[in-house]
Amino acid sequence: MGQYCQVCGARTESRCVDGRTRDVCRDCGEISYAQWKVSAGVRVVNDGKILLVKRSHEPYQGKWHMPAGYVEIDEEPAQAAQREAREETGLTVRVEKLVDCYLDTDDPRGNVIILLYDASVVDGEVTPSDETEAVEFFSPDEVANLQLAGESAEKELNDWLNMVGKQ
Ligand SMILES: [Zn+2]
Repeated sequence: MGQYCQVCGARTESRCVDGRTRDVCRDCGEISYAQWKVSAGVRVVNDGKILLVKRSHEPYQGKWHMPAGYVEIDEEPAQAAQREAREETGLTVRVEKLVDCYLDTDDPRGNVIILLYDASVVDGEVTPSDETEAVEFFSPDEVANLQLAGESAEKELNDWLNMVGKQ
């Protein structure tokens, strides 16, 4: 595996611990537990259209999803959702309430829990960033043919379509 212990820096090895394979430090015995990453995103609807961004990098290059990104260690998820929205779309949003928690287990960067919030635009102009090739609002009919960035993007959009009675 070529992993190093986060406590002492020595090499780790795969061992069976409590019935699961885990990385264990050869020197100090520290066990590394594979855990979920946490991401936060926004569901922004304007005039009945949903805000989506198109990724400019792999993974999911050229695929669409609601603005979202990893929660920094010194942020609350709702703050992270607002920050990611601004970075990825140029729009300042007000985060309203938690929609749901979505799971992504097909992302090569690791399994992610996405906390998705309803949010509304308060300021700014749509401006794609380095991460986003395009930023657009789509009607329920228009999203049908879009290529989406994995299972969580599909679930998020399906839930919205169900809510607005389009599926
Ligand atoms: Zn160690």
